Amino acid sequence: MQVIKINNSPYDANAYLVNGTILIDVGMDSGEIISELGKHIALDDLEMIFLTHCHYDHSGGAPGVARATGAKIAVHKNDASLLGNPDASASRLFGKKSPIIVPDILLSGGEKFGELEIIHTPGHTPGGICLYDPISKTLFSGDTVFQDGSFGRTDLYGGNSSELIGSIRKLTLLDVNIMYPGHGEIVVNNANEQIKLSLLMASQF
Ligand SMILES: [Zn+2]
Ligand SMILES: [Zn+2]
Repeated sequence: MQVIKINNSPYDANAYLVNGTILIDVGMDSGEIISELGKHIALDDLEMIFLTHCHYDHSGGAPGVARATGAKIAVHKNDASLLGNPDASASRLFGKKSPIIVPDILLSGGEKFGELEIIHTPGHTPGGICLYDPISKTLFSGDTVFQDGSFGRTDLYGGNSSELIGSIRKLTLLDVNIMYPGHGEIVVNNANEQIKLSLLMASQF
């Protein structure tokens, strides 16, 4: 699995280009990410955009990137209606109006797209997802867990700390070596240990 991290500003979520055809999260500014993508692929090679959740810093640029590439947008069904809502998408925190995003694919969790499995991980938002590749033991963790035992906040619209703890517990059952979180640095080995630490920290919070 080839993964290229794209991060356009300190406020943007990390976007990950996977195998040159899949984008996991987008960031806010479609113009920036389209020019970044163009350095790595022909734009119409992009097939899918997975949004790990509805928040604007992950999703705001999605319609523009979908228009420029023809890629389909996939999001969990519990977050789909929240994408265009300035409170639920947290776009108000960035002083922005979230764009209307009409997903092409509504996820429930459990689906497989090539080597990637969708795991429903509510808590940060109702429809948060992680994507897991069991062959390379790679997890795209969105805003559910980050490096060094950090975890997603639950004080925003639709957040729920007991659901978040349940979701992190679900992730501890996976075998994860490399972890690509929605913010911060990539964990390059033994991510299992950091996810266990996140579970401990979230449980004590
Ligand atoms: Zn985020
Ligand atoms: Zn978020």
